[in-house]
Amino acid sequence: MKNLLGLFVLPLLVVAAHAKLNVVVTTPDLASIAREIGGDQIELTALARPTEDPHFVDAKPSFIVKLNKAGVLLEGGAELEIGWLPPLLQGARNPKIQSGTPGYVLCNEGITMLEVPATLDRSKGDVHASGNPHFMSDPANGKIVAKHIASAFCQLDPKSCDVFKANLISFENRLDAKLSEWRKLLAPHKGKEVVTYHNYWIYFAKAFDLKMDLYLEPKPGIPPTPAHLAGASGRSHRENEIGQHKVDRRAALPKPEDRRNSGEPHRRRGAGLAVLSHDEQGNPKLPRLDGFPREVAGEKF
Ligand SMILES: [Zn+2]
Repeated sequence: MKNLLGLFVLPLLVVAAHAKLNVVVTTPDLASIAREIGGDQIELTALARPTEDPHFVDAKPSFIVKLNKAGVLLEGGAELEIGWLPPLLQGARNPKIQSGTPGYVLCNEGITMLEVPATLDRSKGDVHASGNPHFMSDPANGKIVAKHIASAFCQLDPKSCDVFKANLISFENRLDAKLSEWRKLLAPHKGKEVVTYHNYWIYFAKAFDLKMDLYLEPKPGIPPTPAHLAGASGRSHRENEIGQHKVDRRAALPKPEDRRNSGEPHRRRGAGLAVLSHDEQGNPKLPRLDGFPREVAGEKF
């Protein structure tokens, strides 16, 4: 009996000694990649809800407690979280996740950033010094982020590094298969114009060779005015009439809510209207990452 107990007790002690890495992530899209890499080896908390605008997150006091206990913080970077994260980080007083430590991970490292301004001019709206922070709309950037997360996890929890590396390879393989499927699906739409609400989708547009330079917001972060909407819709209408561009504009909006209404003039003039969630769990009724290319390509799924 003594031996039997010894056999059972010992493995339990070994498991307890290897605490899971406590991972806090700013946004749910980054959290889904962290989950792919960390699997059961991590405790994972996403701060922003999938339905929230990642620029303006409702910073609750409970976030400070979560950050205080974190072993690693993953943030998007490029000032995406600048409006809400810094005071929380300061309040958390956790040396493990301060800038410059292995527990502080900027996920945009290694990403080719778009719309990096030559000079910073805030009168042009919510522009960011490091460029457009919505790099996750190009699914291929998910691979760079995943690699970055895996190496951070390996550094912080070397015992689980083999599992993280295996999870990374599995994720890369599945994403590669999806990428070639999506490229095939969107190939017939190369060069077509897409009007969007916010400049969220420019990485997506570049990845799939779509043209995107008309936004329903007059400046990033500034809600559309009737005059701007009329001008934007007039421009697309004129171009459609004189045939400068193929008439197949699709208005992709980052969030459902009442933004649907601002795309209505385009829809009336023959554009397809796709209401997309910017996050995979943003709205169960809207397409997830796998659904974006299908929806933009106008496929039924
Ligand atoms: Zn933005």
